[in-house]
Amino acid sequence: MQLISSIVNSASEFIVLLSKNAEVIIFTAVQYLLIAVPFYLFFYNWNKKKYWHLKIQQRYSENKQIIRDILYSISTIIVFGVVIILLLHASKHGYTLVYKPFNKYGYAWYFISILLMVIVHDAYFYWTHRLLHWKPLFKVVHITHHLSRNPTPFSAYAFHPVEALINVGIVPLVAFTIPAQVSAIVIFTIYQLLINVLGHLGFEILPKGFAQNKLTKWHNTFTHHNLHHQFVKYNYGLYLNFWDRIMKTNHPHYEDHFDKVVERKGNSEIVLNRENDQQTNEVPKPAVTPLQALPDNIEF
Ligand SMILES: [Zn+2]
Ligand SMILES: [Zn+2]
Repeated sequence: MQLISSIVNSASEFIVLLSKNAEVIIFTAVQYLLIAVPFYLFFYNWNKKKYWHLKIQQRYSENKQIIRDILYSISTIIVFGVVIILLLHASKHGYTLVYKPFNKYGYAWYFISILLMVIVHDAYFYWTHRLLHWKPLFKVVHITHHLSRNPTPFSAYAFHPVEALINVGIVPLVAFTIPAQVSAIVIFTIYQLLINVLGHLGFEILPKGFAQNKLTKWHNTFTHHNLHHQFVKYNYGLYLNFWDRIMKTNHPHYEDHFDKVVERKGNSEIVLNRENDQQTNEVPKPAVTPLQALPDNIEF
């Protein structure tokens, strides 16, 4: 009986905490919309002819895909918001390593902590992403994200709620292990959101040579994740092209695909009619569905 009443008490405290901090969920939504919507409008509405040659897959996404992605994004924002509310609560009671005075650990640490958060998140994303490609998990969870073969900025948060929970796991991981100033966490969050939206932009905006240059090749291009949506079993990384290189999971023609897109002149076939959703043969679309592209056993 005591157990039941303590469960009821905890549940009601949890609901009160959520209702008192509902603005965090709104803030999470606004932050996402402020980045995803301008990129969508700029490339898909205002400049669709001008930059069409930079469209990685030379065809439009279907409207039903965009609507489905937006609906899944709403559930993702709720999951992210709830976890952030719990974390803020933990932080208020001194359970995390988040701090406010800028010079608490020196200014050098401020920048190192941002770099460290990116490196830790890159490893976290790569390995949880590989896990999500394990067939039983893929069929139930990660397939939601892969339903979009030709992603738009609205695909960035199109996750099954379980995947949303796994993805937001980086926030408590960082908050409990890396001492970081509040604004350093904000910079890290904006960078990850920007890379996530650009990875789903559908257009390549990086300069020629980026994927081959000795230094820049270690950062992913936006073609890199687009190829993941097309071919499924390659290119699992987020920011850096580190884990895909050492685990040999880069698409074998990744650099060639990137070069093909950025070297395309403004004379590629323009397919502006969404109803006639045809594609040119610039970047071939694989004939398989996301599920067929998976091997029968664990893909590690
Ligand atoms: Zn995937
Ligand atoms: Zn994606």
